[in-house]
Amino acid sequence: MRCPHCEKSTLETFQVKGSGVRLDRCNGCSGVWYDSDELQQVMSVAEEKLHMLDKAHPSQRLCPLCLREMFVFDYPQTDVAVDMCGHCRGLWLDLHEAERIKTARKQWMQQQDAERSNSAKSPLTNILEAVFHSLDFLPAN
Ligand SMILES: [Zn+2]
Ligand SMILES: [Zn+2]
Repeated sequence: MRCPHCEKSTLETFQVKGSGVRLDRCNGCSGVWYDSDELQQVMSVAEEKLHMLDKAHPSQRLCPLCLREMFVFDYPQTDVAVDMCGHCRGLWLDLHEAERIKTARKQWMQQQDAERSNSAKSPLTNILEAVFHSLDFLPAN
């Protein structure tokens, strides 16, 4: 697979530490492509939900699998724009995007704890929670 960011680089599969999840990472820019079966299962509702997001719009980047245009949208509770394929539901994160999401989400979670909010999470939030957790297991570059 080709990297949607660098285009010249290829993606290499690696196993996420402590889980059966396999992800693909670019050997050029260290961006990560999420297309594991496990993730696709939780992402089965993503396509519909994605269309409902106000800020989702067509991305310039092509899905490395389908070679179709992806959507770009702001990761919930952050201002980090991420790309997702509406067809295969894969998700692309640049290295700096993953780092920024980690930081922003940590701050947001602490805030939530402080407020003791019990508000129900949307399916899309749950999907992205799963993505967020997997970031902690990415091998150091
Ligand atoms: Zn790349
Ligand atoms: Zn795709």
